[in-house]
Amino acid sequence: MHYLDNNATTQVAPEVLEAMLPFYREHWGNASSAHAFCRPVKEGLHNARNQIAGLINAQPEEIVFTGCGTESNNTAIHSALQRDPSRKHIITTSVEHSANIKQGQFLQRLGYDVTYLPVEEDGSIDMCMLSETIRPDTALVSAMWANNETGVIFPIEELAAICRSKGVSFHTDAIQAAGKVPIDVQSVGVDYLSLSAHKIYAPKGVGALYVKKGIPFTPYLLGGSQESGRRAGTENIAGIVGFGRAALMALEDRSRNENLRELRDQMENSILSQIPQTSRNGCKSQRLPNTSNIAFDRVEGEAMLLKLDRLGISASSGSACTTGSVRPSHVLTAMGVPNRRALASIRFSLGLYSSEKDIQYLLKHLPRIVAELRGQTPLQTAPEKAGRNH
Ligand SMILES: *Cc1c(COP(=O)(O)O)cnc(C)c1O
Repeated sequence: MHYLDNNATTQVAPEVLEAMLPFYREHWGNASSAHAFCRPVKEGLHNARNQIAGLINAQPEEIVFTGCGTESNNTAIHSALQRDPSRKHIITTSVEHSANIKQGQFLQRLGYDVTYLPVEEDGSIDMCMLSETIRPDTALVSAMWANNETGVIFPIEELAAICRSKGVSFHTDAIQAAGKVPIDVQSVGVDYLSLSAHKIYAPKGVGALYVKKGIPFTPYLLGGSQESGRRAGTENIAGIVGFGRAALMALEDRSRNENLRELRDQMENSILSQIPQTSRNGCKSQRLPNTSNIAFDRVEGEAMLLKLDRLGISASSGSACTTGSVRPSHVLTAMGVPNRRALASIRFSLGLYSSEKDIQYLLKHLPRIVAELRGQTPLQTAPEKAGRNH
């Protein structure tokens, strides 16, 4: 198997699984119980909170564990809206994860006004546009740190500074950024920040929300007093312990991203130079080290994914495949990519366990696949390089 879909999810690291197993086998108690049996459970929770805080330079009390990244995003927006109920305007971006887009649409149906900030052709954001869009009744700005489809990184520090100067709460979805770029909540100055375990080599079904100390917080889930009353529901202790372990690994091995970047660049440069009529979606430099989104002109993306899949290569398109029909990725559409090109785009996202062999295997088969899908034999492919975008 050649797994190049790490922005969708990552493998649980063996070290993470090892750290989790005792919390299934022995320490399976309820962290809220008073008996001594539960002490190691409380300790596991405590340590994991410290580890997650360490990854983003937060204080442990500022970390709220959740059930997934989606819940973290939904909670941040929900909580920010409760701070001043007279503020009915929310700003987010047109390239956010569907977690934000769908919640935005829901809030619009409830009578909120939601602005989806447009992006430039290269996926970057216009800072002046944000300043101009903020109104006296703006409750919150939510902008992702790094895009899951293109890897494009937003200038979060500048966005946060604008919000601060205007007295507006700021949330960032750092789910793809975590473990791939350094995150320091102190220096960036965000109010809320979302994380998800399964994007950093820990299990699915665990997330965290950083809530800056002193910010009034309204829980999304109501019930028991777990997480100091900020998130009801018995904690997924093993998952949380794994999440903590994964955060520690990310913090301790900063060189891992340089290796990833090298491998990604090697793959991307080879594709763009060896296969005609290919181009990158998203800017080249302000980008995650692992992500490459490539448009293969005159190729049907979904057909390409199938062919890759048959060869044991997992990649993805940002297209939403609602049974029967394929809609182009809302991210690429927001960047002004025409439908035809958006539907010809493939995301390759590398991870810790991607190897040079995986890339060589991909590069060996890709030219033939592309030629087949273009209805050509490889020998007939024209050597021109139309539409390249460096
Ligand atoms: C994966 C992802 C999410 C959703 O996280 P889940 O834990 O799967 O709910 C949200 N935002 C971004 C940018 C993501 O990549």
